Amino acid sequence: RPVEVGRIIGEAVDRNHLTAEGKNIAVTVGGTSNVVVHGDPDLLMTAFRNLVDNAIRYSPEGTKVGVGVRVRNGLVEVSVTDQGPGIGPDDQERVFERFYRVDAARSRQTGGTGLGLSIVKHVMSNHGGEVTVWSQPGQGSTFTVRLPIYEEGTVADGSPSDDETNGAQGA
Ligand code: ATP
Ligand code: MG
Repeated sequence: RPVEVGRIIGEAVDRNHLTAEGKNIAVTVGGTSNVVVHGDPDLLMTAFRNLVDNAIRYSPEGTKVGVGVRVRNGLVEVSVTDQGPGIGPDDQERVFERFYRVDAARSRQTGGTGLGLSIVKHVMSNHGGEVTVWSQPGQGSTFTVRLPIYEEGTVADGSPSDDETNGAQGA
């Protein structure tokens, strides 16, 4: 089924609204708004929710989380960037494993089972996409999801567009 990326991200952010507010974290969404992918809206929603949930959960109060959408090489790239503790190189390779949690003691306080990112990874591979992480410990993390585009509106391909008009949504 065709799924509007912008709409699914908007909903994923909305559903984390209370947690973000409780930590005084502003979540902003920017970039291309009218990309459509093919897949299961509930699974894609679950995946994006997990990424936004992590970004909020592992970041200190008063920081910022940014979600950016852009089109590159025929794929849509969605990145979730936080100003949290970051993830060291060894852990970056392992965070997508089931039940793997960095720093068990610290993670225990934050709840969670260690399944979120393994679900994201599975959902992405089931949709012909992928998820990667970039992080500099002490400076935050960026999780990037790439999915094949099913249909795109009026935004020119390849540009890191900042179109926020939503003009072509649902067209
Ligand atoms: P669950 O998502 O199942 O509730 P979880 O958040 O611990 O539990 P994952 O989402 O798979 O599980 O994340 C695995 C581990 O990776 C986390 O425990 C945390 O240590 C680390 N991690 C994930 N996202 C971030 C992030 N944005 N910043 C820092 N560490 C992160
Ligand atoms: Mg998680």
